[in-house]
Amino acid sequence: MNQIVQDYPQSYYAATMNDDCCYPQLEGEIEAETCIIGGGYAGLMTAMGLVERGYTDIAIVEQNRIGWGASGRNGGFVFGGYSLSPQKLVSRVGEEKARALYHLTVSAVELIRTRAQQYAIDCDLVDEGVILANWFKDQSLLQNQAQFMLDKMKVNWRYLSPRQLSSLINSDRYCGGLYEPNAMHFHPLNYARGIAAQINNTQARIFESSKVVSVEAEQPVKSVFTQKGRIRCKNLVVAGGGYINNLIPKISNSVLPIATYVMATEPLGERLAGLIKTKAAVYDTRFAFDYYRPLQDTRILWGGRVSARRATPANLAQLLKKDLSKVFPSLGDVKIDYVWDGWMSYASHQMAQIGQTTPGVWYAIGFGGHGVAPTTTAGEVLAEAIAGGNESYQQFSPWGLPWNGSVFGPMAAQTSYWWYQLKDWLKDRLEK
Ligand SMILES: Cc1cc2nc3c(=O)[nH]c(=O)nc-3n(C[C@H](O)[C@H](O)[C@H](O)COP(=O)(O)OP(=O)(O)OC[C@H]3O[C@@H](n4cnc5c(N)ncnc54)[C@H](O)[C@@H]3O)c2cc1C
Repeated sequence: MNQIVQDYPQSYYAATMNDDCCYPQLEGEIEAETCIIGGGYAGLMTAMGLVERGYTDIAIVEQNRIGWGASGRNGGFVFGGYSLSPQKLVSRVGEEKARALYHLTVSAVELIRTRAQQYAIDCDLVDEGVILANWFKDQSLLQNQAQFMLDKMKVNWRYLSPRQLSSLINSDRYCGGLYEPNAMHFHPLNYARGIAAQINNTQARIFESSKVVSVEAEQPVKSVFTQKGRIRCKNLVVAGGGYINNLIPKISNSVLPIATYVMATEPLGERLAGLIKTKAAVYDTRFAFDYYRPLQDTRILWGGRVSARRATPANLAQLLKKDLSKVFPSLGDVKIDYVWDGWMSYASHQMAQIGQTTPGVWYAIGFGGHGVAPTTTAGEVLAEAIAGGNESYQQFSPWGLPWNGSVFGPMAAQTSYWWYQLKDWLKDRLEK
């Protein structure tokens, strides 16, 4: 019998899982060509990428459950881009390379769509785009962004006038928006578990409740130790996200765990259709934006706020509900059925970190709050590198593994977040 170390935290997603199948704990010694640490999207998509290339001698080791981390708790937005904005991509590597990097995530959105269909993964996928709603009155922000995306990234984000936006979202809070058509939203935990089931249908092995406690990675044959077992492997992929702690310092000391929060309201029945008349998911133009989407059972799934502090606010549901009522004042009385937190991993440069430290030691980490598509990108470039020797992962080398600032990192991250929040607040006040 598998002893579960830490089960899924309470969330809407855990409460609506398609099944509760568990994978065994690693016991004793095994060999695998590739060992992947972390059963989140970065680990799973690398494994899936390898499986789809006919390469199945893989072992995934997850300390808790598949999709237990950010991948099974997120807002469910599936859209192109990285945590680092496309504008900052261009300033770092120039237009052409930035566009190529951006389009890796556009292809990732398409691959997620294809996999959900091809493997018949029941994950409530809603292929109806994403809306960026303007929190401010200034329309030039939207027009400039749409123009930039068209000219530099060659993608068409459609401008929505204030009137068009209010016909979709019944809130006085917004003033116009942009519509990104090649975007979707889904049940992230059921997607993760559906992908794991596909991987498990092959020779690849998945272990849950198997925390990796140490790694010996200097030799061509590497060893990965869990509390009860050991895996010898040729390739090691480190994909521990914001939960990696201090495993392999070169990698873990390059990211900071940052918390963010989600809630799901009670089912709203007909009230939902009066407020949200679109199936698209929505986020807004502030640095510290809210994001939300209507669920099939008429709840609103709502997320926002970030914190570099470890402790989850005791009054989290009230805080998020206050944010919700700023957009939909009529929902001030609504009951919150689920509220949860999750940790993202952020590098100081905000770009996804994908690459190799020493021969055979690969990493995919630092996806921040925009990781659903980029983790699929990571899975593809790492699978191409491991299975085929392709070097497309080198596109990510301009960012590398910077120092996370140790104990000062969280302070710096929190201060910068407050600074941007203040800027948003001031802009809002000045417009009023
Ligand atoms: C609340 C929230 C909302 C978000 N919303 C969105 C969104 O709507 N759209 C979007 O694109 N992105 C979103 N993100 C970001 C996105 O979810 C992440 O970037 C992405 O899931 C990261 O995947 P990952 O595999 O790197 O990390 P994780 O999913 O966190 O997986 C890492 C896994 O590694 C395991 N692990 C760590 N250390 C060990 C060890 N020593 N041994 C074994 N296993 C280990 C952990 O248990 C964990 O399961 C959100 C994130 C959060 C937290």
